Amino acid sequence: SDQVLSITPNTQEEVEVLKNVSTQYETNLWQPVSSDHIEAETPVHLYVPANSSEAVMDLLQKHGMTHVLLANADELIEMQMRNDSTDPRSGSTFYQKYHPLEVIYSWINRTTHDYSSTVKAILVGSSYEKRPLYALKLSLNNRPNKKAMWIDCGIHAREWISPAFCLSFVHHALSFYNQNREITDILDSMDIYVLPVLNPDGYKHTWTKNRLWRKNRSLRRGTNCVGVDLNRNFDASWGQGASHDPCSEIFCGSFPESEPETQAVADFLRSHKDSIQLYITIHSYSQKLLFPFSYITDEPENLSDLLEMAKGAADNIRKYYLNHYAYGSGGKALLAPGGSDDWAYNLGIKYSFTFELQDRGRYGFLLPESQIDRACKEALTGVKTIALNVIEK
Ligand SMILES: [Zn+2]
Repeated sequence: SDQVLSITPNTQEEVEVLKNVSTQYETNLWQPVSSDHIEAETPVHLYVPANSSEAVMDLLQKHGMTHVLLANADELIEMQMRNDSTDPRSGSTFYQKYHPLEVIYSWINRTTHDYSSTVKAILVGSSYEKRPLYALKLSLNNRPNKKAMWIDCGIHAREWISPAFCLSFVHHALSFYNQNREITDILDSMDIYVLPVLNPDGYKHTWTKNRLWRKNRSLRRGTNCVGVDLNRNFDASWGQGASHDPCSEIFCGSFPESEPETQAVADFLRSHKDSIQLYITIHSYSQKLLFPFSYITDEPENLSDLLEMAKGAADNIRKYYLNHYAYGSGGKALLAPGGSDDWAYNLGIKYSFTFELQDRGRYGFLLPESQIDRACKEALTGVKTIALNVIEK
C-alpha cells in the first residue's frame, strides 16, 4: 500500500541518497517541503506510493538506511473522503469532518443566510480556474473606527485541517458570541474577516485527482508542470532563494502576485490596511506559531510583542490541551521568501502570524477526522489569546 516514511539521514551521503529518492522516484516529500532543504540529523517525511515502494525500499536498504513507518496512507485517504455529510446543518459533527469544495461554498451561503445581519460574504477575487474567493466578514456591531483581524485558510491545498479550522472558527464565533467571554470581547472590539479556502482550485484537485497537491493550478507556456506555491508568490523579498522551476513544489511564479489568488488577497489587505491590525494564516503540519521574518534572519522591530503573544498562545494550548507548540521567527528554522505573513507585516499589519496546526508527522497532511476537533480547539485557543492581546495594545 501507499506509505509514509520517516527517515533521518546521518551523513552527507545519506542526505544525497534521500535527495535522489525524492526527486528521481515517484514520491511526495512532506518534510522538508523541497529536497534542497534536506539535511543531516533532521527527519525527512516521505510519502511513497505502492508502485515505487519496492524500488525505494531497495535503495534505502542498499545504503543501510533505516526508516520508521508513519502511516498506511491509502487507508487514511479513504477514511477522510468517506461519509461526507451534504447538509451543513446536520449538527456538530459537520465541523468534525473534511468537506469537498462544493459543500464549503454551500456552507458559506447558508451561514450568510442564517446570520444575515452579522455576516456578509465578500467576493475578494477569483481563482485561476475562475472559482470565487469569498471572505466572510463577521461584524457584530457598528462602532466607529472599529479595528479588524484577518484569517485565511487553505493556501496550501493538501493541508485539509486548515479550511476545517476556518469553518470551525466561524461556527464558534457565531454560536458563542455572548456566551464565551473571550470571543465576545474580541467581536465587540473587532470585525473578523475569514477566507476559508484561499486556493480553491488546488483544494478541488486534492479531492478529485491528487490528495497531496500543494500549489494552485495555473498553467504556463513551455512546461507541463502546473501551479505556483502561493505562499512564495507574495511580494516579500520575492524570488530570492525560492525556486524558479515551475516543477518545484515551491515555485514562486513568474513575478510577485502573478497568481490571481495572491493578488486578490493582497489587494483586499492593501485596501483595508488601516483597519486590519492582526493577520493570521493557517497551515499544517508541525505545531508551530511563527511570526516575521521568514525571508531574512533579521528580527522585527516589535519582536518582544510578537514573542509575548506567541508564547501566551503556546502556553494556553499547553495548559488546556497538554499539547506542545513551538514558536518563533519563521526564518530561524527555514528561510522562505514570498510568504503572506511577512508581506502583511511589511504592509503595516504589525501583528502577523503563521499557525502550523497538528500534528508533528504521525499523520502529517492526512490527519484523521477524529483529530479535527482537538486540532481546531487548540488553534482557536491560540487565535483568541493573540487577538485579545492585540486588542489591549
Ligand atoms: Zn502550508
